Order: sequence, then C-alpha cells, then structure tokens
Amino acid sequence: MDSPEILYMVVPCYNEQAVMRTTAEQLKIKYTSLISSGLISPESRIVFVNDGSADETWEIIRELHSTDPKFFSGIDLAHNRGHQNAVLAGLMTVKDICDMCITMDADLQDDINTIDEMVKKYYEGNQVVYGVRSARDTDTFFKKTTAEGFYKFMTAMGADVIYNHADFRLMSKRVLQELANFKEVNLFLRGMVPLIGFKNCKVYYERHERAAGESKYPLKRMLSFAVNGITSFSTKPLKLITALGLIMSAVSVIAFIWAFITKIAGFTEHGWSSTMCSIWLIGGLQLFCLGIIGEYIGKIYAEVKQRPRFIVAEFLNDTDDNNDKNHT
Ligand code: UDP
Ligand code: MG
Repeated sequence: MDSPEILYMVVPCYNEQAVMRTTAEQLKIKYTSLISSGLISPESRIVFVNDGSADETWEIIRELHSTDPKFFSGIDLAHNRGHQNAVLAGLMTVKDICDMCITMDADLQDDINTIDEMVKKYYEGNQVVYGVRSARDTDTFFKKTTAEGFYKFMTAMGADVIYNHADFRLMSKRVLQELANFKEVNLFLRGMVPLIGFKNCKVYYERHERAAGESKYPLKRMLSFAVNGITSFSTKPLKLITALGLIMSAVSVIAFIWAFITKIAGFTEHGWSSTMCSIWLIGGLQLFCLGIIGEYIGKIYAEVKQRPRFIVAEFLNDTDDNNDKNHT
C-alpha cells in the first residue's frame, strides 16, 4: 500500500456530556492503533459536531481539542438542527481535507472495531462502506419491530435504503464532493448516499446499548424522521391516491348496478338510488382528480430539489492534460 490516507471521523453530539469523554477515549485508542499499524495517516482527526447542545458538550469538546489537538477537532453549530444536519455540516466541513470520512454516533452504539474493516474495504476500492447491523439483540421488542418495519415500508414506498443500515458509514472524498451537489433541505442521508452510487459494500456489526446518557430519538421524533424519509424520497403516496381514485370509480360501477337492482326489486326509499350512485361516483372522481394534481405536485417537488441529474464516475479521455492529472 502507498502512504496511508487521511481518515476523518464525524461525530454528531447533542447533549452528550455523559458519554463524550468515554467516546473520545475509545476513539483515541482506536486511532492510535490504526496510525501505528499504518492504516491511516497521522493527520487523521476525530471531529465532534456540537449540534446546539444545552449542556456541557461543547466545553468538553474544546477541552479535548486543547489537550489533544492531534486527535480531536470540533465544530460548533449555532443552533440545534437535528442529527442529519449536524452530520452534513461535519461532512461538508471536512470534505476537502480528508481522503475518507466515517460518520458515527456519539453514544458508542456503533461498534468502533468495525472501523478497521471499513478502512480496509476502502483501500480495496470501495467508495462507500455501509455499516449494517447484524443483530438487534440489545433493542427492545418495540424498537426492533418498528425499526425493521420502517426499512421494509421505506422500500415498499420506493425509497432505496440499505436494510438495517443507519448512519454509520465510510465515504470517500469523491463521494463527499458529489454529496455537496445535493441541494435539498429535507435531509435523509440514508436515501441520498445510495443515489450517489459508485462501488460500495457492506460490513456487519453488532449494535451495542448506549454507553451513557439518553436517546434523543423518542417515538415522536422517530415517526417524523420516517415520514420525512418517505416523503423526501418517494412520490409513491401520490400515485397511490390516483390508484385509489381509479379503484373507487370502478367500484362505483358496481354500486350503480347494485342500486339499480335494489330499485327494480322495489326495496328502496324514493331518492336512495340516485344518492348512492352520486356518492360513489363523485368520491371516486374526486380522488382520481386529486391524484392527477398529485402527479404534478410530485414533478414540481422533484424539480425544486435540484438534485444532480447524473454523476460521472470516470472520464476516459486521452489528452495530455488528463494524463498529467491521472498521474498526480
Ligand atoms: N443527535 C444530534 N442532534 C439531535 C439529536 C441527536 O446531533 O438533535 C446525535 C446524538 O448526539 C447521537 C446521534 O445523533 O450522536 C444519534 O442520536 P441517539 O443516539 O439519541 O439516537 P438513537 O440511537 O437512540 O436512535
Ligand atoms: Mg444512539
């Protein structure tokens, strides 16, 4: 292998004072061993992103940076903007100074011993290495069922997400540069990174319990995260409305026949048949029309996102200029 490359870790932290020091200590041990085994460059850093914490988190990060500037860096966000924004802020800050970057939660739920394997996979040519949970033994039954249901539902709704992968992943500098071209405001990194493409692979790890402190994702936030994920990546719900409208219109034909037969048979009050027919027909038509409007909204929605329309992985072009570039 050539000289080792620079690995930056991006760790979002929101009110994590209880766990910060333990996490820092463990990551420092990991970095020391990775550097001494020649896997990563000594210029590699661990970047803690303080997401507008109300507790001592930022003071601890400052302290870590001043005692160990060769290991720890810090980014302080002006407000609490949520996990995804904090991660993106970190990634966009380091994208030009690292060769590869790993994002990881601050609570040590992601297994730091997976980092070695991720880095090795990167050297094998993978631009993205997804950390995938192999087991959910430490989760409560409720969290396990809701989380696994979430991945299945996301896939059914047409969003391309990696099953059981959260935000523990390695990305190369190249992927970070491409990620910078995604201008959307409603972030859902798990959906965005697969859209970028490139050679990628998965590594499996067991997710631990939180080392200290409390989860910042209660059920309410988890649900709104799931809704954001689906609505940011799929217009399938809008298409479902159109389909439902069509089905309702078809059913209204059956309702017509039924109303007609009951009328002929003389079982009805005066005016019942026409009321029934209108309810079914109008209901179906309304849904169908809403669905068509939805289709347009879906298109507008895709346009306003201004996502890159394509990503060029490689440009084979035999000019002198290019040859020079390829050799540097
Ligand atoms: N986090 C953040 N901003 C927030 C909420 C959470 O940066 O508004 C960070 C948090 O500090 C942690 C990660 O996101 O590093 C995941 O949060 P948590 O562990 O609470 O979620 P869970 O693992 O319980 O789903
Ligand atoms: Mg956690």
